[in-house]
Amino acid sequence: MTTLADIPGPWRLDAACNPLTADTYYPHKGSSSAAAKEVCHHCYVEGECLAYALERNEKVGIWGGKSRQERRAMRAKAAEAVTP
Ligand code: SF4
Repeated sequence: MTTLADIPGPWRLDAACNPLTADTYYPHKGSSSAAAKEVCHHCYVEGECLAYALERNEKVGIWGGKSRQERRAMRAKAAEAVTP
């Protein structure tokens, strides 16, 4: 599992989240991700974070304000858009 602390990109330094509260960004099945998403939506690097997760196909956690399921839907929609 990749966490923000593992990311070499400079954008990580502007992250609104804190590695010490990483559990918030990896909610257990059935628990709410609302608190993490709220922080993400006020984060200066939300777009960079989401792009990073999409590029790496991150399977777990909230990245850029999106859950794994939301990222999967975004990738599927993007794939549909490029399919002739
Ligand atoms: S968008 Fe969310 S997970 Fe990504 S760096 Fe910002 S607060 Fe952290």
